[in-house]
Amino acid sequence: MSSHDKIPLPPTSLFPDAATRERVEDRLTRALAQAAERVLRGPVMPDIDMTALRRELAAFDFTQPRPLQELIDWAIGSLEHGTVHMTHPRYFGLFNPAPNFPSQCADRISGAFNPQLASSGSSPAPVAIEQHVIRAFAARAGLPEDAAGHFTTAGSEANYTALICALTRANERFASDGVRAFDGPVAFYTSRECQPAWHKIAHQAGVGRSALRLIATDGAGRMDVRALAEAVREDRRRGTVPVLISTTAGTTGAGMIDPLEPCATVAREHDVWYHVDAAWGGAALCSDRLRREMAGIELADSVTLDAHKWLATTMGCGMFITRHPAILSEAFRVGAEFMPSSATSIDPYLNTVQWSRRFLGLRLFLALGAAGWQGYGAHVERAAQVIDSARERLAARGWSIANDSRLAVLCVLPPAGSPPVRDIVRRVLASGQAWVAVAKLEGREVIRICATHGEITSADVDVLVSALEAAR
Ligand SMILES: *Cc1c(COP(=O)(O)O)cnc(C)c1O
Repeated sequence: MSSHDKIPLPPTSLFPDAATRERVEDRLTRALAQAAERVLRGPVMPDIDMTALRRELAAFDFTQPRPLQELIDWAIGSLEHGTVHMTHPRYFGLFNPAPNFPSQCADRISGAFNPQLASSGSSPAPVAIEQHVIRAFAARAGLPEDAAGHFTTAGSEANYTALICALTRANERFASDGVRAFDGPVAFYTSRECQPAWHKIAHQAGVGRSALRLIATDGAGRMDVRALAEAVREDRRRGTVPVLISTTAGTTGAGMIDPLEPCATVAREHDVWYHVDAAWGGAALCSDRLRREMAGIELADSVTLDAHKWLATTMGCGMFITRHPAILSEAFRVGAEFMPSSATSIDPYLNTVQWSRRFLGLRLFLALGAAGWQGYGAHVERAAQVIDSARERLAARGWSIANDSRLAVLCVLPPAGSPPVRDIVRRVLASGQAWVAVAKLEGREVIRICATHGEITSADVDVLVSALEAAR
């Protein structure tokens, strides 16, 4: 017998025949649709018995194979009862959207072809599609025609990429010597209201957490430009090397937009990299009305955008865009003979943090293609209108408005004499009627309400308002 005959058949549990796949997939599609229906009628909060879940998990010792169908049903049940429901229209939550349908279709397509996007040699069409979408957003932000970038796992990776680019540009020896290349300790700047991943990014990038300067805000949640300019000057005077200023265009807590143009001027004066973290708020670029809020973003050396937030793609879909794409090729260059291509300015593995890479950009390509700027703009404006309506209804009942944002996030305080914000939020969550968060704005705890779901109705806003009123 030749060794050829000894190759066993592949395990059908992993690679079933076409008819089985079709049956399981069709049933999966129906099961998901039914679960989605039940989620809409049920509580926003998880109602799972975690003791029971852990017991069931312990029983999966993986010695005996189980039927896939049974596993799928178990997984759907665990998600249906064991998560806060981002797909519930009364999840007024943390930027986590109910995913739009085109992006869900994209995930199926990517999952089926499973292209490797590390290299344009193996995935010429997917790499070109991603570049096309990146350029479309770059143009929408007013960046020059030769701006470029890539999709990232999320906003944090994009912000990390910005810091690496800033360091690489600030000192040509950073590539070989790291922070030892600099004449003094390096520093970078963002506001006190920044997204906290910047602390981890400082750690990861090797500049150390103490390199992060949290600049004071103006009392309304925006970076104080004079405090920024003063901090940069003071650092310079003491021999510290400023490398990056990052403004936030749509803060995580309150949707506030730092003064983008004045901060760009400070960055230019001191010749440091200017980054705009528009992870959530950047979606406003889709709307002709709201994009005005983003004026100044066009001055950025780099921009972070998250499609998995307000643009409502499936989870984990960020973008990094820069007007200096050559810096990316410098920061992420590497030699690898085994790779199918080594096109310096094109291949994602030569220009980004990741190596193996999923086809994330298809999500935004299908969504933007299906909606057009106009459809996406309508989606974004609708969310802002939902928040306008919640603002009006709460203000009419004596609540005070803590943030001054035109975007789709609202921070409120209950009327005088109400219980503390934390207690109110706890009661709202316990009611299962809606999900809202406690956030801090200018050092004060507020109730944060964000329109993340694309299909919120005024009836949902009514339920939210009643739940908040009942909870105080
Ligand atoms: C969400 C967010 C981040 C972090 O992005 P992830 O996609 O969660 O990694 C960074 N900055 C801002 C302003 C954000 O809203």
